[in-house]
Amino acid sequence: MSLSEEFISRLPKVELHLHLEGSLRPETFRELSRGRNSMVSKIERWVLDRQKQGYRYATFGDFIEAFKFAVQLLETPEDYALATVRLMEWLAEQNVKYAEITLAAGVVLWKQQSLDRIYEAVRAASLEAGARLGLRVNWIFDAIRHFGAEHTREVLHWASRYRSEGVVALGVGGDEVRGPANLFGAVFCEARDCGLHTVAHAGETCGPESVRDAVELLKAERIGHGLTAARDPEVMALLRERGIPLEGCPGSNVSIGLIPAFGDYPLRTFLDAGVTITLNSDDPALFGTSIGQELSMAAAEFLLSADQIAGLCENAARAAFLPEDEKQQLLAQIRQAVLA
Ligand SMILES: [Zn+2]
Repeated sequence: MSLSEEFISRLPKVELHLHLEGSLRPETFRELSRGRNSMVSKIERWVLDRQKQGYRYATFGDFIEAFKFAVQLLETPEDYALATVRLMEWLAEQNVKYAEITLAAGVVLWKQQSLDRIYEAVRAASLEAGARLGLRVNWIFDAIRHFGAEHTREVLHWASRYRSEGVVALGVGGDEVRGPANLFGAVFCEARDCGLHTVAHAGETCGPESVRDAVELLKAERIGHGLTAARDPEVMALLRERGIPLEGCPGSNVSIGLIPAFGDYPLRTFLDAGVTITLNSDDPALFGTSIGQELSMAAAEFLLSADQIAGLCENAARAAFLPEDEKQQLLAQIRQAVLA
C-alpha cells in the first residue's frame, strides 16, 4: 500500500453525492432476492455482465436501465432499511464520518410505494446503524426532472414533512434535456421557504448552460456533477463568485462515457479556477467505485499531496448541509488525520 493509500484509508471522509439505490452491491442483491430462484439467476447474470463490461455503460440510457434493475429489488420498507444498513457498513469501512444519501423519492412515488413507511424504515435503520458505526447521515429527496414540476412538488411535500427528521434537501436528477431547469424555479423557491436546502444534477449530460440555469434559475446551493462547467470560463466564474460547490463524480463520468478516462476529469481546471470541488462515488456499486477509490485515483492521476486530498474532504465538510458546529467537528477530525 503506497503512503497516500494508507493516508486515504484512514482519512475521515464526507460524501455528499451518493444514491442509495446505486449502492446495492452483489452481496446485498443476493440478500434482497430472498432466495427466489428466478431472481437469483437474473442477479448473477446481471452482476457478471457488469464485471465483464468493466462497469461501463454504452449510453446514459443503459445506465438508467441498470439503475432500474436495482430499484426493482427494493420492494418493501424492510428492503430499503437493509440497503441502508449495508451501505452504512460499507461507508464506515471507508472511514466516512458523514454522508448525505439521496433517496429516489420520485421513483418511490412513481412505483406507488408508500414513501412514508419507506422513509421511516430507512431513517430508523440509519439511526441505529449510525450509533453503532460512528457515522452520521442525512437524506436528500430526489425528484425525476423529466417527470415535471408537479411531480417535483409532490416530492417536496414529503421532503418538507420529514425536514426535522433527517431530510435536509430537495434535489432533481434524471434527464436534463426533457426536464430543463426553467420548469422548477417556483418549486425550488417553495423548498427554500420550507427551510430545505436545494441541489440539482446539472452539467452531466448537458453543456455548461445547464449548470448556469441550475445556479441562476433554481438557485441550487450545490451542483451534482457540474462536469461540463469546466468548458465555460464564465460559468466557472459564476460558481466561484457565488461559492457554489460541485459534487464531482469522476468514476461515474468515466463509466457512462462522458470522459474517456479518470485522468481526463477536469479536476485541475476546477482547482485552478477556485471552484469548490468535492469528490463522490454517485452510484458506487453500479460504477465499481467507492469514495476511497475516487480519492485514490485522483491522488494518483493528478499527483495530489496529502494536504490536497484532505482539502477535497474539507471542501465536502464545508459544503455539507449541517450546522456550523458539526462542520467544525468534521474539519477538526480531518485536520487531525493530516497532522497524525
Ligand atoms: Zn447522481
